[in-house]
Amino acid sequence: MAITSTSPSFMSQLCFGTIEEDLLLPYPSMGEAEQETMRGVISSLESLLKPKEKDFREWDAKGELPPAFIEELKGMGLFSLVIPEAFGGMGLSATAYSRTLQEIAKYDASVAVTVGAHSSIGMRGLLLFGTDEQKQRWLPKLATGEMIAAFCLTEPGAGSDAASIKSTAVRDGNDWLLTGNKLWITNGGIADFFTVFAKTGGQADRGNITAFVVTKDLPGVSIGPHEDKMGIRASSTTTVHFDNVRVPAANVLGEVGKGFKVAMKILNSGRGGLGGGAVGGMKKIIALATKQAKERVQFGKPIADFGLIKQKLGHMVVDCYATESAVNVLNHFVDAGHQDYAVEAAITKVFGSEALWRTVDEGLQIAAGNGFMREFPYERTLRDARINRIYEGTNDILRLFIALTAMNEVGSQLKELGDSLKGLFDNPIKGFGVLSDYARRRASLVTTYVKRDKATFTKLHPALSKQQVVFEELTRDLATAVDRVLRKHGKNIIGKQFASRRLADIMIELFVLACTLSRVSTAVANKGAAQVTKELEIAEVLTGRVRRRVRRHMSMIDDNDDELIKSLADHALDAERYSWDNV
Ligand SMILES: Cc1cc2nc3c(=O)[nH]c(=O)nc-3n(C[C@H](O)[C@H](O)[C@H](O)COP(=O)(O)OP(=O)(O)OC[C@H]3O[C@@H](n4cnc5c(N)ncnc54)[C@H](O)[C@@H]3O)c2cc1C
Repeated sequence: MAITSTSPSFMSQLCFGTIEEDLLLPYPSMGEAEQETMRGVISSLESLLKPKEKDFREWDAKGELPPAFIEELKGMGLFSLVIPEAFGGMGLSATAYSRTLQEIAKYDASVAVTVGAHSSIGMRGLLLFGTDEQKQRWLPKLATGEMIAAFCLTEPGAGSDAASIKSTAVRDGNDWLLTGNKLWITNGGIADFFTVFAKTGGQADRGNITAFVVTKDLPGVSIGPHEDKMGIRASSTTTVHFDNVRVPAANVLGEVGKGFKVAMKILNSGRGGLGGGAVGGMKKIIALATKQAKERVQFGKPIADFGLIKQKLGHMVVDCYATESAVNVLNHFVDAGHQDYAVEAAITKVFGSEALWRTVDEGLQIAAGNGFMREFPYERTLRDARINRIYEGTNDILRLFIALTAMNEVGSQLKELGDSLKGLFDNPIKGFGVLSDYARRRASLVTTYVKRDKATFTKLHPALSKQQVVFEELTRDLATAVDRVLRKHGKNIIGKQFASRRLADIMIELFVLACTLSRVSTAVANKGAAQVTKELEIAEVLTGRVRRRVRRHMSMIDDNDDELIKSLADHALDAERYSWDNV
């Protein structure tokens, strides 16, 4: 069954114990024409970026990309990647765009962030919500790079809690008067086109936010100095100030008062780009660390011969393959017109940014002293990688989002049933016929759970039959865990962050495993098992790893130290210090 705009969310269904395998199988692949385009893009990027490896180090130290280099990026069409051809862009699919960012990130993360912030978030609102007139007006200039775009949501008092922004816009005739201060805006220093979010129902009204296009030429727009950062240092990050800026009403993006939805949709739809960048960073480090491990001799042998080095490299490969699989599935969802992929996008961001962090950290460990030296690219890649766990939604906030959103449907059906669900698990058959659809699914889940041989991920290739069984068991574990947690906490789950985090971690593991199994299954089907032995090994390792982690999270739902940990945190918060100095 093809993916459509009304296809269900894979993860919401998984929370019910249902594996929507048609959303994942067969694993997506690029069409021949797009592959041809990508080969051209990759080869042009290599000619532009490879000779600049030394420059990237210097620009990182200086904290700036030179204007002449930005002109080169424009000349190569790197600001036009996702803009439709009708407006002068390259019209790349989400898959090809993400692959392009992956390739750029192999050379330099600051460059990937500059290009990515323009296309993934800066002008994404115009693509998603712009009227034809607005698109005609700005997209051609954004495609050539005559205008570079930035996304202005964060403020000094509003980071994760974006609804608490203080910028305001007040209607005045045909215009809005916009006032506010935005913080840490990527591309701030080089942008001419800002997607800005402001309250349009007064500062105190949390809901009433509107998105505006503000161009730099409007009087009252000013830019702060370049921030001195830990990583992605050469990318531009600045404050952006709006002092009573007269913004024409024609610059409103989407509906007045619906700007929060605009912001969230932009962030969701841009996550495949960030995932692509993470994959690029991992591939770079794997290439560097494998060479280093073979060249470096200690105790009379290349360090690559030692088990502990192989252990790191093996996990780096698994993490990279798994992230790439999830990123490709996510991008396919976007390209196929699927609408309900916010949870899967958040999962891909969290897993990708953390897999990148592990990979870069272990890569640096393999290079050891060399890894610590600025002369080699490991430390820069490590510094650059850290931001991915912070921006576009911190991974902590995204974990809460993943758990609460994916469980939402189960929760609302639980609520509908109220007391009629009580005892269902004691006697699943009793309720058949009288309970709602939800209860029927729950009942069948319980009976399926008992009949462990009943397959639900049936379209996987038989070469993955062991992994199939594990995935099905873990899916039933997830559904059981969601049910238990929701019954235990009800709507108070919102305040139970330890419990939500555990569920989110189970969900993250399972989505990434499902994408990886889909990829390996399709590879076996296309090429035969003998040609993909290493991919089968990846599937086996990842399945084992996920099984152990999920089981651990499951056991901790009831057996944990949550209250003690909170008590120790409260103690430290009261003392504002560590309390047990012995001198
Ligand atoms: C280099 C860089 C570039 C950026 N680019 C942009 C950009 O282009 N446009 C833009 O608008 N913004 C941008 N940002 C801002 C970025 O999106 C925010 O930093 C991010 O959203 C987090 O906000 P904060 O830093 O204020 O952290 P806070 O929201 O203050 O959070 C602090 C900590 O508390 C945690 N926390 C917060 N609330 C909760 C909760 N309810 N439950 C549990 N934990 C919680 C967070 O996870 C975090 O660990 C950028 C930031 C940086 C550093």
